[in-house]
Amino acid sequence: MLMSAADYRESLRSYSPRVFVNGRRVESVADEPLLAPGIAGVGVTYDFAREPRHEALMTARQGTSGKIVNRMLHIDETSTDLLYKLEAVRLVCQESGCAQRYLTHDAFNGIFQATKRADDAHGTEYHQRFIAYMHEVQDKDLTLGVAMTDAKGDRSRRPGAQANPDVYVHIKERRPDGIVIRGTKAIVTGAPYMHEFLVMPCRTMTAEDSEFAVCCAVPVDAPGVTIIAKPAGRPGEAAAKFSAKYGQSVGVVMFDDVFVPWERVFLAGEHEEGGYLTTSYATHHRHSCIGARAGFGDLLIGAGALMVEANGLDPDRHGHIRDAMVDLIKIVEGFFACGVAASVYCIKDQAGSVMPDTVFSNIGKLLLATQIYDMHRLASYVSGGLVVALPGPDEDHNPETAGSLAAVLAGRADIPAAQRMEVARLMEDLTASHQGGWYSTISLHGGGSPEAMKREIWRNYPVMEKVDLVERLLDRGVVADGRRVSKQPGRCCATGCEVPSVPEAAE
Ligand SMILES: Cc1cc2nc3c(=O)[nH]c(=O)nc-3n(C[C@H](O)[C@H](O)[C@H](O)COP(=O)(O)OP(=O)(O)OC[C@H]3O[C@@H](n4cnc5c(N)ncnc54)[C@H](O)[C@@H]3O)c2cc1C
Repeated sequence: MLMSAADYRESLRSYSPRVFVNGRRVESVADEPLLAPGIAGVGVTYDFAREPRHEALMTARQGTSGKIVNRMLHIDETSTDLLYKLEAVRLVCQESGCAQRYLTHDAFNGIFQATKRADDAHGTEYHQRFIAYMHEVQDKDLTLGVAMTDAKGDRSRRPGAQANPDVYVHIKERRPDGIVIRGTKAIVTGAPYMHEFLVMPCRTMTAEDSEFAVCCAVPVDAPGVTIIAKPAGRPGEAAAKFSAKYGQSVGVVMFDDVFVPWERVFLAGEHEEGGYLTTSYATHHRHSCIGARAGFGDLLIGAGALMVEANGLDPDRHGHIRDAMVDLIKIVEGFFACGVAASVYCIKDQAGSVMPDTVFSNIGKLLLATQIYDMHRLASYVSGGLVVALPGPDEDHNPETAGSLAAVLAGRADIPAAQRMEVARLMEDLTASHQGGWYSTISLHGGGSPEAMKREIWRNYPVMEKVDLVERLLDRGVVADGRRVSKQPGRCCATGCEVPSVPEAAE
């Protein structure tokens, strides 16, 4: 059953989460004005999946069940799946800025891979258990929040060495019928209006930290769960042309001795697979982030072009304006191309699914993480200062000022001042409001801070192949064929699958 946006909103009524926003308990998430833009954003993923023109992108056949499911809940099996997912995320983020739900997709794909590895290594039964759970979620067409980023406390200390163990979610107790978890996930997009949370570890763990290597599903209203969230977007602000309608809330989620039955536990102490889950989720998610920010880039490109037009300028005649627009396009399509490459060069996983290429996914996300600030700069550059100087919408109806403002704030003669002001307000909303800052920060840190991407690029890039290439070209004969071993961790050959034995000469 594919729900509509209205069905999704209604479905939230059957949950009673403990939610606080702006210091106040929220009685009904579905009716809370401060959360409405977030619910509308997620709603786009529902309505678009039911529209015939978006069906190919927004739905997919789930291989393990044969059923048609929302693309945001699908396990990728081919390069085409990845390309379609990338395009689908771009599509829903063009409309909504951020639609959150691709996080469910990314978590599903990461858990699908990690549970298979855990079963192969430990003889556990997580994979089939997870598939059964996933089918249930797909059948009900639910939206799951990703509860991965722990509060983390002192960053220089490992989870088990923290003064307060509750800064990381961990297993407090193991029972015959399940586990009890405790701790805090600090940044969860859409937390108040999710159906459930997927709890996952946010870093690689050592054996001593194994009780922190936990992955499980928890209903948003499970006893012991508290959500303390910010408003979604800029609800109720007349000047917020975009984010009064669409924008995501982010919440702190506290797990205060929450019982999770075994049917919903997908890792419980397998620290190596926990680490694998963190990185595989990150690769899927960074790939999705590329699509998401390309959708946001589309908004900036369109709004920038409209501002230029309303200002009376023609990019074909004014080279610096055209250059700025081309730079903006180059950035957006440049990182999007990394997403396309990551889809094309995907890797088949032992679980039967595919994973986008790690290097291209991380480069694409790294590019957007830093170039989002250039995107804002370029959009501002072509628009002018009016975007922050424009009087608020109340002035539009002030009989003492409206007429004279309209007369002087018009640009091109055939474009009414009201139209120019509308685009200027949209541009302010996207780039210069606190919501504009939200888009910058999510681009920089969402899916991991830039250092995490740099590590993944260095860990996975076959530098030694390039070294070999140059050595062959130089014909130096420094080492005999097959004797040279890469110094990059886990990277002994083109596919990086085995740790090499120490060559005799080095012993
Ligand atoms: C808007 C938004 C939405 C998000 N949504 C979600 C979500 O839905 N679910 C989710 O799980 N997460 C979400 N995230 C969290 C995101 O994954 C994290 O922000 C990111 O992983 C960085 O973690 P942090 O914010 O705790 O920053 P920190 O880890 O505190 O990092 C801050 C800086 O310190 C550096 N640093 C941190 N630790 C160390 C160390 N040990 N040694 C050296 N340097 C260090 C980092 O490289 C970084 O530069 C979201 C983030 C944002 C901004």
